[in-house]
Formats: sequence, structure tokens, C-alpha cells
Amino acid sequence: MIAPTPGFVAVPPDALASLAALVGAENLVTTQGELETLSKDCYWYSPVLKSRLDPRRAAAAVRPGSMAELRAVLALAYAKDLPVTVRGGATGNYGQCIPLCGGLVVDIGRLDRVLEVSADGLLSAEPGARVIKLEQAAREHGWELRCYPSTWVKSTLSGFIAGGSAGIGSITWGGLRDNGTIKRIKLLTLEAEPREIVLEEADALKAFHAYGTNGVITEIQLRLAPARRWEQLIVTSPDWAALTSFVTGVARDDAVPKRLVSLQEASFGAAFKPLKKWIADGHAVSFFDVEESCAPALAEAARASGLTVALTIPHHEPRRQPMLAEYGWNHATLWMMKARPGHTYLQLGMGRDFAAQAEALRARFPDQLHLHYEFVRGRSVAGAPAEVVAVLIPAVRFQSEEQLRAIISAAGELGIASGDPHTCYVEDGGKDPGVESKWALKRETDPKGLLNPGKMKAEWAADAAGPRDVFPVFLQP
Ligand SMILES: Cc1cc2nc3c(=O)[nH]c(=O)nc-3n(C[C@H](O)[C@H](O)[C@H](O)COP(=O)(O)OP(=O)(O)OC[C@H]3O[C@@H](n4cnc5c(N)ncnc54)[C@H](O)[C@@H]3O)c2cc1C
Repeated sequence: MIAPTPGFVAVPPDALASLAALVGAENLVTTQGELETLSKDCYWYSPVLKSRLDPRRAAAAVRPGSMAELRAVLALAYAKDLPVTVRGGATGNYGQCIPLCGGLVVDIGRLDRVLEVSADGLLSAEPGARVIKLEQAAREHGWELRCYPSTWVKSTLSGFIAGGSAGIGSITWGGLRDNGTIKRIKLLTLEAEPREIVLEEADALKAFHAYGTNGVITEIQLRLAPARRWEQLIVTSPDWAALTSFVTGVARDDAVPKRLVSLQEASFGAAFKPLKKWIADGHAVSFFDVEESCAPALAEAARASGLTVALTIPHHEPRRQPMLAEYGWNHATLWMMKARPGHTYLQLGMGRDFAAQAEALRARFPDQLHLHYEFVRGRSVAGAPAEVVAVLIPAVRFQSEEQLRAIISAAGELGIASGDPHTCYVEDGGKDPGVESKWALKRETDPKGLLNPGKMKAEWAADAAGPRDVFPVFLQP
């Protein structure tokens, strides 16, 4: 028996019996081993979160099979004062779906229907639909997702919306919160009789990246992009500066339709075991998804710049391995952590002169950083067209939490923005400018403060007039 952590809320026997009656005994989990699994996500990317969140787990888990069951589970949780942490594919890196104070994990994996792909490019689906399934459904109708995570095989739609931020396609469409990509979110409140709230357009962002603290998402509608045929290329070079210059040129060339531009130092190239036969020792590596009509010219330009076109993969349907995107974004970090135990990562938003900024940062932390960039479309400033910018996701040779904080602080001095991946709090991760509206939605949806408690630093109690700082209760080591 695992000792309960401070703040742990148990599920009483009568509530367990009611849950079994609601969802079926086979969809109620109470055994310690299974609960341990269902209480964890990919938080171990962060040694800081790993040490803090390791002992946290749910008291029980349920897998509702219909919206009616989900609604009944939420009503019961409210009546019994049970914390509710929703779980999708559990690929989040910040411990988003780790319950901090026991209670119920609600796995939404069985609510996974694609509801509609409309002729004008809108996709509606239930929360547990896997992202790969959405891409396939969209493509059957001549559309594709504007943006998907490299974990598209395991990730669920609502997990991506409530816990993710950007991904493949963001070089054209920006992050999830940009350009109206999320059109509508329907969610349920945690009340005696859960209400459905429908959030449209900009309002939908109140539930975006909120870690399930301000509602249980039941349906999402996304705007799609017209489907293209994507050719994949690996371009490598032992000359980091030459590869950086070439990749930056392609990334910023709006005449080339693209979905992925990823640039990584040779240490990453060496970590990608399945790609070893194509990536020569000591070569830095870049991955591209570009419209197939542009691929020959891109390959030609790379060769003319003295670079190696190591592999081209023609477009194929259905899309299957090797998918180069699965060596970009946080998959690159994963390969590095496997190859070099003791490494972790950071997420840094770079300025236009990103290469000089990164070298200045590295000079202050010698032998600690391996460089990996993903290129994304930033936001429009003062009406000017949105530029493509570099996001630096460096692998970091971990020494201590203080070291990570020092790098983030030094990055700030160099004009580099950071989204801290070593915190599980809504407010601290993405520095989201819309956080006040997330708090306001929570006040409306979660009067008892039972939705993923502890993840939103400013929680509201039913009778409180303003924010109540409850997080230290849960996370004191
Ligand atoms: C190898 C690797 C690569 C990654 N690459 C990317 C990437 O390219 N882009 C990116 O943005 N992220 C990336 N991530 C992070 C993660 O994969 C994404 O955020 C992913 O989309 C999360 O989906 P999920 O279903 O696994 O969510 P989960 O981890 O299950 O949940 C995430 C959050 O959403 C909440 N949630 C889930 N469903 C609901 C619901 N119905 N209602 C309310 N709240 C809900 C959960 O409570 C949790 O707080 C990566 C992670 C790994 C391990």
C-alpha cells in the first residue's frame, strides 16, 4: 500500500460502488499498479517535476463510455467532494494530468468519435479522439490539420488543446491559439448538475492550455487547412553555420509551402539510432516537410550550398514510418535523453538574430547546451505580417534546479523569452497573456475547486472573492 501524500483525497466505498454502477465495474480502476500508471504522464522529462510529483496518484480512475456517463461521474464527484483530473493520452511533459491530491482520474479515451469534417474545412470531434485519427479523417475530405504534435499517434484532441501548444504545421499556421485554429470548445462544469458551456472563437482560448482546471472538454471544433502532398527531406552537414544559414533561408521563404523545419546539432543526429544509416557522424541535421512540387528545388539548393541531402521520402498515404516529425519537437529531446542520460531540456523563444543569441547563451553555460530549433510562425506585431521565428528546445546537461533557473534568467537578459517546462502550474508554463480569463472561467465552472486542484495557482473557493493561493499546500516536498 502506498502512503497517501499530503492533501490526498480518498474515494469512499459508497462512491466507488456508485461509480461502478455508472460506468461498469470493468471501467473502474482501484488496483495500485494500474492507478500508478493512470496517474502519470511524461513529467519525467523534467528532473525537477520528477522528484516533486513522483508520489502523487489518484485514489481511483474511471473510463466513461458516453457523455451521459461522463456527466454522471462529474455530478458524483461534486456531490462527494472528489478532485477530478482528466487524462487523455498522458504525453504531457509538465505533469499536467498527474493528480496532486488523489481523487478521481477520468480517462476520456473511450469518447473518441470524429463527429464531422465539413465541406468548408471544419472538423468536430469528441475529446478522446487520437490526433492521428483526426488527420486521417480530415485528409479523406481533402483537408488536413493546421497543426499537430509529434506525439500524434498517442495524443488525444482535448489533451493537445488543454495541454499542448504547437507542432507540425505551426511554421505556416502558428501555434494552436493563433489564427482562429480552435473555433469552438464545449465543456462541462463541475457542479451538482454539470452544465454544458459553449465557447466560440476567441472565448474558446479560455479553456486552451488550462490543464483541465476550468472545465471538462466534451467537444472541439478546429479549422483545417487544404490538404497538401508533403515530401520529407533530411539535409545534413558537418558545418553547423552553413546548415543554419540554409535552413533559416528555407524557413523564412514564404514561397515554399511547408509543415516542418527542424534544425539540430550533430549530437542530436548521433542520438537518432533508426536514422543512423543516413546521418553521417559529426553531421548536424535538418528535417523538412515541404510541398512535393518544391522538394527537388530545395534538394538542389542544398547541394549547391555544399550540404548533404541524406534522404528524401516521397509523399505517401496513409502516412507511416519513418515520419521525420517524430525526430523533431520534443521527440528530439526524448532521443537525446535516451542517448545521454542526465539531460533535460528548456523551451526558449528566440529573436530574429537567434543564432547569435543562442551562442551568447551557450558561452555563459559552457558544455551544458545542445542546440535544437523548431521554426514557427510568430504573431503579427502592429499589423505587420507575422514572421517565422525560431524556438530553441535545447537539451541541457542537468546539474540542478538552480542551473535551469540561471539559464532561463540569463536567456531573459539576452532578450530570449522562455516557457518554463519545469513547472506544473498553468500560470508559469506558457506565460499566457490570457490567464485572467482562464481564472474567470474557473470561477464559473468549478465552484468547489475540484478540477485538477493545485495546477492553477490562483484557485477560487465558492465563497472567496478573489484568488486563493493554495498551491504550496500540495507541492511542498
Ligand atoms: C515525445 C514528445 C513529443 C511532444 N511533442 C509535442 C509537440 O510537438 N507539440 C506540443 O504541443 N506538445 C508536444 N508534446 C507534449 C504532449 O504530447 C502534447 O501536449 C499532447 O498533445 C498532449 O495530449 P495528451 O492526450 O497526451 O494529453 P494529456 O497529457 O493526457 O493531457 C494534457 C492536459 O490536458 C488535460 N485534458 C485532457 N483531456 C481533457 C478534457 N477532455 N478536458 C479538460 N482537460 C483535459 C489533462 O488534464 C492535462 O492537464 C510532446 C510530448 C512528448 C512526450
